[in-house]
Amino acid sequence: MVTIAERLNNAYDRIAKAEQNSHKTDPVQLLAVSKTKPIELIQQAYDAGQRLFGESYVQEAVDKVTHFKQCRDIEWHFIGPIQSNKSRHIAEHFSWVQSVDRVKIARRLNEQRPTNLKPLNVLIQVNISEDENKSGCLPAEVQALADFIHDSKQLSLRGLMTITAKTDDLLIQKQYFQQMKDCFDRLKAQYPQIDTLSMGMSGDLEPAVAAGATMVRIGTDIFGQRQ
Ligand SMILES: *Cc1c(COP(=O)(O)O)cnc(C)c1O
Repeated sequence: MVTIAERLNNAYDRIAKAEQNSHKTDPVQLLAVSKTKPIELIQQAYDAGQRLFGESYVQEAVDKVTHFKQCRDIEWHFIGPIQSNKSRHIAEHFSWVQSVDRVKIARRLNEQRPTNLKPLNVLIQVNISEDENKSGCLPAEVQALADFIHDSKQLSLRGLMTITAKTDDLLIQKQYFQQMKDCFDRLKAQYPQIDTLSMGMSGDLEPAVAAGATMVRIGTDIFGQRQ
């Protein structure tokens, strides 16, 4: 049996190799995506030293955040689609949300973020492949949404996230990651405080890191296949 600790180590090794190959100096962060996986596996990852966790389904996520309330050093990231009637749970339980793609949701999160908590860290999700079936705003919409988030007191604009369309064409994949990096650099010219470009998953972390990802989101390679 391969343990969660060993799988985590393997993931960190993959990231380290990808960093070396692209001569990166700033460490790339690893978000462990634990959606659909039981508390016990999250506990094992925590015991192995993992502190950043990502969840996609609101009810399940709130149960897990509540369970781990005592582990104050866990940083929970919401990475799933956001329905407006569920936004309050995200505003109240998470420290990061990576999947904001419209002003309506940003406005609700800002209004619903409790004032005794630090501002909610926000990444704008970009539909870089402009695929009709994917969530995320279009690259042309990033600017207006970033301005809105920046002006929202209870939100902190931190950068961009993307889920790229599955493709076997490595050139097209590289192109999408590069377009995200360009989009990130344009935004950073205006908002120098942004520091997070979240892209790359179990299947494509190497090209994502090569293009400039600062955070990769790994589920399957750490916790195993999902149902
Ligand atoms: C599920 C999920 C991941 C993890 O994908 P794996 O292929 O299992 O590594 C990453 N990002 C988002 C937004 C996800 O929903």
